[in-house]
Amino acid sequence: MSWCILCHGYMQEQVSWGILFGTDPVPAACEPCLEKLTKISGPRCSRCSRPMEEERVCGDCERWGAGVLDRNLSVYSYTDSVKEIMNLYKFRGDAELVRLFETDIRTVAKQLPKKAMLVPIPLSIERLQERGFNQAELLAKAIRRPILLPLERITSEKQSKKSRRERLAGGPLFKLSSDHLLQGAVLVIVDDIYTTGNTVYQAARLLKDAGAASVSSLTLIRG
Ligand SMILES: [Zn+2]
Ligand SMILES: [Zn+2]
Repeated sequence: MSWCILCHGYMQEQVSWGILFGTDPVPAACEPCLEKLTKISGPRCSRCSRPMEEERVCGDCERWGAGVLDRNLSVYSYTDSVKEIMNLYKFRGDAELVRLFETDIRTVAKQLPKKAMLVPIPLSIERLQERGFNQAELLAKAIRRPILLPLERITSEKQSKKSRRERLAGGPLFKLSSDHLLQGAVLVIVDDIYTTGNTVYQAARLLKDAGAASVSSLTLIRG
């Protein structure tokens, strides 16, 4: 017997060969709850996965320019129901919730380069202590590829008090934490959400400067 981790309703025991043999995860939520996770489908920006009328490179990506980030893959659109679920994920402190995304994120991760190593976006020490886990790291673990932690978040009291506009224009978010051998590495940044692209681009630029051969990103949500 199992219960949906979102609505706590009783779930009919689902049996498939994949579940029996342990290759498919046991669903964490009931069908109606899982349907609230809006997968990105149809035409999108070929570089950042933003849903579009037609497949092309969006204006934001043109502004960022080529050469730093190869592309961003995302799993879900930022709909109201996805927002609701993400708020639970962030603030309930329930690492269990990552099970919701496991199957979908692994399906998208099949598009990653074979030799890719994952670089989760770090939280500041303060945020990590407050939350108890780093959601980006949990997502990276669900993808089941080697994980590197070369980034460290630069914290300043002022950072959180700044408006979004100031933050966009503002100083660096990360530094390299130690001498990691990144020369020639194929890296994929992992984060929960891609909004303006600022976080991912800042991280990508550092990794590229440290010698990474290519950097792309996989984010759960395209905001
Ligand atoms: Zn449910
Ligand atoms: Zn784009």
